[in-house]
Amino acid sequence: MNQQQTQTDFDSREIFRPIVPVYDLMNRVLSGGMDTIWRRTAASYTTGHRILDLACGTGDLAIEIARQKCSSEVLGADILPEMIQKAAGKTKGDIANRVNYLVSNGEKVPFGDETFDSVTIAFGIRNFNDRKRGLEEIYRVLRPGGRAVILEFSMPKNKIVNSAYLFYFTKVLPAVGKRFSGNSRSYSYLPESVLKWPSPEDFSEEIKDIGFSRVSNVSLTLGIAWLHVAQK
Ligand code: SAM
Repeated sequence: MNQQQTQTDFDSREIFRPIVPVYDLMNRVLSGGMDTIWRRTAASYTTGHRILDLACGTGDLAIEIARQKCSSEVLGADILPEMIQKAAGKTKGDIANRVNYLVSNGEKVPFGDETFDSVTIAFGIRNFNDRKRGLEEIYRVLRPGGRAVILEFSMPKNKIVNSAYLFYFTKVLPAVGKRFSGNSRSYSYLPESVLKWPSPEDFSEEIKDIGFSRVSNVSLTLGIAWLHVAQK
């Protein structure tokens, strides 16, 4: 495998805690609503009925899975209690009977081996201190034949699209993020972390190294986001 650094020692809670109140609105504005479509696509790849959504943030993917899969039981887990509180407050009606939340570190999941049919994580694993450990935990808690569905950003490969997107991502997005959230660090962190993130092909190799099979990548919106699907 490509020997990329898979560990960091920063505390991602300091990045996300200040933006919890504006997180959903900023996602919609900064992605032009595409984030909703990306999560909808990710949810459609889940299988089985016991589903764990790691780094669930404000719960959008967990809620979407429950909406699409009527017999599913979804558990959303996030390291930040403030995110979990927001997610729980948004989860209403019939969906609330099938979606539960807990505060948990995705690098040390508090469940036994082979507990879930699918494990999802959207824009979360990039923020883990040790993503190899995160992938190992996903593998461990999946039942044999279970599916990992990982959504992450990348940079478009087409040169023209790449330069236009790079300008938007590194100049416009942090400025808009700062203006509306009042927090500059959180929205400059986003492009910084994505630019350090491995290519979809290299990340697929990391997933295979954990022991997953049938590892595939799906490019979404010109390669701005990628869906990584793998089977235990
Ligand atoms: N999945 C959500 C979504 O699609 O909007 C949230 C994504 S947000 C960019 C990243 C989330 O990862 C934050 O809610 C953050 O608290 C969480 N996070 C970061 N490190 C984590 C860890 N080690 N374990 C669990 N959650 C973590």
